[in-house]
Amino acid sequence: MILYNLCCSADHVFEAWFKDSAAFDEQAVAGEILCPVCGNASVAKAPMAPRIVKGGDSGDDRGEESGPGPQTYTNTKATEMRRMLTELRRHVEENSDYVGDNFAEEARKIHYGETEERNIYGEATEDQAEELTEEGVKVGRIPWLPRTDS
Ligand SMILES: [Zn+2]
Repeated sequence: MILYNLCCSADHVFEAWFKDSAAFDEQAVAGEILCPVCGNASVAKAPMAPRIVKGGDSGDDRGEESGPGPQTYTNTKATEMRRMLTELRRHVEENSDYVGDNFAEEARKIHYGETEERNIYGEATEDQAEELTEEGVKVGRIPWLPRTDS
């Protein structure tokens, strides 16, 4: 028996048992595997190694209980997201001038041609960002991760 972590096209992750990997393929193709959350039949293996359980043992399977559950998948996604945001941050830092708290002021100056046109980044409050957008200043907001030593 193989336990697969599966996910549907709506990103619901769930576990299901199969006789072997061929059984999974057959049932997947036949649309027999349904997401228990939304009933979606487009189900794929979640990207993690399947847990293979040996059959016919005496039943002493203590020690296997601490295996990774479905949340491992979520952690993988979070890690991936974090990597992308770190990458984004690096890109912004390399291609833009840091203006700190003066972001709104500098963005306006650039928008109204009072200073050299360039990419800037810095901190702005929600209100400032909203005002800038209303004035037609192109403002992008990205989730900013604290720098990590990697
Ligand atoms: Zn679903």
